[in-house]
Amino acid sequence: MEECEAERERLAGELAAAERRLAARQAELMAERTRLDEQRQRLLGERAAALQRLSPQTAQLYERLRERGLARGLAAVQQRKCQGCYVELPTNLQAMVLAGRELVRCPQCGRFLYAEEGTAAARSYRTSTEHHTTPMPGD
Ligand SMILES: [Zn+2]
Repeated sequence: MEECEAERERLAGELAAAERRLAARQAELMAERTRLDEQRQRLLGERAAALQRLSPQTAQLYERLRERGLARGLAAVQQRKCQGCYVELPTNLQAMVLAGRELVRCPQCGRFLYAEEGTAAARSYRTSTEHHTTPMPGD
C-alpha cells in the first residue's frame, strides 16, 4: 500500500513538472507569435512603402504577377543591367522596360524586368513622356 502511495506521488510530481514545461512552452510560443505579428506588420509597412516608390504601372504589374505567384521572377533594371543575373540588356529592351507598356523578360534569366524608380534613365524617360502620356487635371 505504501509503495502504491509513493508511486502515486511520483506520478503526480511528474505530471506537475510536465504541466510546468507545457505552460513555459506555451508562454514561449505566445511571445514568438507576438514577435512574428510585429515583424509581419513591419514588413507590410515596408512593402507598402516599396510599392509607393514604383511607378503606378509597375506596381500594378507587380500585383498582378504576385497574385499568380510569379513575383519572385521579377528583376529590376539598374545601370542597364538585369539585377537578377547582371547581364547587360540590349538598348531596345531597356527602352521597352522604361516604357512599361508591355511585359519584358530578361533574355538571359527569363525574369520579368521593371525599371527601378529613381534611376536616372527612368526619371528622364518619365519626365520626357509624362506630358504626352498622362493627361493632367485641367488639360
Ligand atoms: Zn536576367
